[in-house]
Order: sequence, then C-alpha cells, then structure tokens
Amino acid sequence: MKVVLENLTKIFPSRNKKSNEEVVAVNNFSFEIPDGKLVGLLGPSGCGKSTTLYMICGLQKLSGGKIYFGEDDVTDLPPEHRGVGLVFQNYALYPHMTVKQNILYPLQNLKGADKLSKEEMLSRTEEVARLVQIDGLLDRKPSEMSGGQQQRVAIARALVKMPRVLLLDEPLSNLDARLRLQTREEIRRIQKETGITTVFVTHDQEEAMSISDIIVVMKKGIIQQIDEPQKVYDDPANLFVAKFLGTPPINVFEGEVKEGMLFLGDDPVMRVSSVADQPVWVGIRPEGFILDENGPLHCSLEGVEVMGRDVSVVSEHAASQNPVVRSIISAESHIDTASPVIRYSLKPNKVFLFHKETEERLL
Ligand code: ADP
Ligand code: MG
Repeated sequence: MKVVLENLTKIFPSRNKKSNEEVVAVNNFSFEIPDGKLVGLLGPSGCGKSTTLYMICGLQKLSGGKIYFGEDDVTDLPPEHRGVGLVFQNYALYPHMTVKQNILYPLQNLKGADKLSKEEMLSRTEEVARLVQIDGLLDRKPSEMSGGQQQRVAIARALVKMPRVLLLDEPLSNLDARLRLQTREEIRRIQKETGITTVFVTHDQEEAMSISDIIVVMKKGIIQQIDEPQKVYDDPANLFVAKFLGTPPINVFEGEVKEGMLFLGDDPVMRVSSVADQPVWVGIRPEGFILDENGPLHCSLEGVEVMGRDVSVVSEHAASQNPVVRSIISAESHIDTASPVIRYSLKPNKVFLFHKETEERLL
C-alpha cells in the first residue's frame, strides 16, 4: 500500500499565553511513500516527526493537505478505520494483562463485519507472537519481561490487526545500546517478511541510516532531503543535512573560492573550477583527509585516538568552525605524534561546498 502525503501542514496555537505566535509543526510536507518500503523520518527533537506520524494515523487533525492510502482519501477518516498499527517509544502495555491478552485486546474490540471468531483471534495472536519471537512468553505479565521483549509485544499488538501501514515513533529509544541494535534488526526483518509499508521515526541518524530504504530529513517542519541513506550521506542537499548525518560528524570550515581555488584560511586546498568566487562553508567528512607530508592543508596536531581498525587524528585549524578537526585514517598509517603540524590533501568527493547565506549546496 503506497501512502501519499500531499502538502501536509499542521499549525498549533501558541502554548504561551503571552505570545500569539503559532507553531508551524509541519510545513507543506509532500512525499509519496512507496508500497512495501521502510521510510525513516529523521530530524532533531521538535522538528515535527511525531506530528507527521500522528497525522498519518489520524490522531492529529490536519491544518492543511491530503493523505491517501493507495487511491483512498483517508484525510478525514478516524484512526480506527485507517488500518494503521502504531508503536510508541514507551511500550504502553496493559500491566495487569498477560502478553497474550495484550496482543488479543485490539482484536476483541473489532466490530461488525471485522469481528473475528475466538479461534481466528487466537491463531492470529500466535502467528504474530511467532513473527516477533515471543511465542514462548505468552503467559507472562509485562513486568516479567525485558524492555526489548516488551517492545516486541507492542509491535505484535500493532501487527495483529494486519495493518495497511505500520507507524513507529522512536520505538528503540527506551532500550539499552545492545538491545537497540538487536531490536532494530528485528524490526527490519519483520518489516521485510510482512512487506508492510512502514514509517519509522527517529532522531538518531545512525539508526535511520541502517534501517531505512529511504530517509526523509526534516528541520523545523520542513523536508530538507529525501533519498536513499547512502545518497543522503554522499550527496547532502545543504549544510544542515551534512552536519546531521555521520559519526564522527563532518568538519565544517569557513572558506573562500578565489579564481577556481578553494582556500581554508591561507591554505589553497583544492581546485573547484565550477564554483564562482565567493565566501563559502566547507564540509569535509572525517574520511576525506589523506595524510600527505606535502599536503596543502596545515593543521596543528593535538592528538591521536586509536579506534581499532582506524585511528582518529585530532587537530586544529584557524578556519575550522568546530573546536577540533577530526580525521579518520587507517591504523597502518605512520603519524609522527611529536610533530606540531600535520598536513593533509583532500578527497574531492568528500568535500562539500555550501552557500554562505542560504547554506544550500554549491555544485
Ligand atoms: P518531534 O517528534 O520531531 O520531536 P513534534 O512533532 O513532537 O516533534 O513537535 C513539533 C513542534 O510542534 C514542536 O515545536 C512542538 O513543541 C510543537 N507541538 C507538538 N504538539 C503540540 C501541541 N499539542 N500543541 C502545541 N504545540 C505542539
Ligand atoms: Mg517525537
């Protein structure tokens, strides 16, 4: 089932009694979610991710725009008639019910033509419990399970009604690091097995990168970029997207293009013949630096951090917008840690130029 979002807009009245300023939580959001894909909705806290999700599921009314599931206009349909499954950050299971009762509950509330027989309800419950691998725990209470297991129950409960669309709002945030990794892979497997069109909300770029077919990056209610994860990383549309993706984060410098040469401070680091003379922001990925004793970029060496396969070289440069410049290079490289200066040349495909005012990418 494809999902079409057309000019989705949500304006909240001011919460502050003294000011009348409204909050535009989601601003003219248009995107077609392809059938059977997992879309990651990524952005910092407060950028409108949850509001977008709640509009898709019908818990939040639209201020403007349209939503279609396939060819059906569902814009004014109440949540229970949309065929959506929703999973929140806090699993919100009923504590006094067993796992089985928790999963059965949404089925028992089905009315009219949707009503199921007792046998059908039980077999559906067992089927989704197997899918999320909690079929051995059906008689336990939520308090007798780990966080990861509880979140699986919540996912089973969202799946048991066979939703047309699955919506997940930061479902891994309450889990510890190891469980987060494991559960994220589980969600990916379940999504692939069921083929349900899924929207996965997260503020964690690594999580979004690893789980999504397509990433939508949002800032202040506005879509910044829509693309496959690797494309967003390799080809960021603007400085915000470039800074939001990647660990360690991209290194940002103040630079200037003069007669086809890019300068960082006094260092002429790279030819950029296609860009007109102007001041620019320059983003350099940590893996974009090449150790080069004759290299044009001169940094003052601060330290070397060993990370196993790679090392991270920490240095400083006057044009850097971050306190330190961080490069990632192979652990086999020889670095003279006694030297006060480290010199680099740059990999052109890891260097991005942005307009100084608009912060849009210059190509
Ligand atoms: P996210 O999920 O990306 O953290 P939200 O969608 O929850 O962001 O919120 C987007 C913006 O809308 C924020 O500025 C938030 O304060 C505001 N907002 C969310 N819900 C309401 C509400 N019920 N009333 C007023 N403002 C709200
Ligand atoms: Mg949220």
